[in-house]
Amino acid sequence: MKNNRPLWEPKRRIEAAFRRRLLAIARIIVREIKSTADPDEVQQILLGLTRTKEYQKLCQSAAMKMVTGLFSDQGHTWRQAAAANGKGRIIYEALRKELQGPAGQRMRELIDDATYRIVTLPSDIGHDVADYVARESLKGRRASDIAEEIQKMFPEKTTARAELIARTQTSMTSTSLTWERSERLGAHWYIWRAVGDARTRHSHEKMEGVLVNWNDPPAPEDLFPILNADGKPRRNTLGHYHAGCCPNCRCYPEPVIDLDQVTFPARIYMGNRIQTIRKKDFERMM
Ligand SMILES: [Zn+2]
Repeated sequence: MKNNRPLWEPKRRIEAAFRRRLLAIARIIVREIKSTADPDEVQQILLGLTRTKEYQKLCQSAAMKMVTGLFSDQGHTWRQAAAANGKGRIIYEALRKELQGPAGQRMRELIDDATYRIVTLPSDIGHDVADYVARESLKGRRASDIAEEIQKMFPEKTTARAELIARTQTSMTSTSLTWERSERLGAHWYIWRAVGDARTRHSHEKMEGVLVNWNDPPAPEDLFPILNADGKPRRNTLGHYHAGCCPNCRCYPEPVIDLDQVTFPARIYMGNRIQTIRKKDFERMM
């Protein structure tokens, strides 16, 4: 079996650079609201910031660098993978043409998506603040005490949200780009790859090595449920999704370009469950 794993694993340096830009944006947000402790005023300032041209530009530039960085890095990965299995010429030609076609359009959509996530960061925090104020007021707490607390928790909350966006958006964008190219190059299956450390979700760990069709995303939480104390499965709020496409997920898809990448008999997601498949049956489906 060829070891393609390090090839397809998203490059952490792109995520790290995106994270740095988001944290810089988070610092701007925190600085903006330092002048006041009044919750209503905080909301106004946050909304105002979202509407400024400079802020929007900053968000767009961060999103663009992340998406185009992943795009060109993956182009390199595809070429390497192709060169290794003799389909180099076909894939190379397809990659050369792709920017003129739907890939350029798709990339603009991905940039818009990521920009939107960042631009709305202040209003997300605004909602957090409003919720907090409402909850604490119900408990009968004094407005001045609440305001003081908000000032204290604000930097931490903002940073946490920025970190979540950095991780989740990089991973989702990376999967979207792989998906796009896979379909264009006729690779309809991928191998779900999990990082497999202490922070990996139980269900995702179980998905490691499973063959998945791009048109049929699994629901890992239904396939490998976590049981509550009463023995009933925990409610699945994530639904069906591809590797890397849920909050904080670090899994990634490894497109099947060559059967040598797969160890048979292999586990495959089909008909809403995980089955076992032999090489010749999979070959027929490919
Ligand atoms: Zn995962």
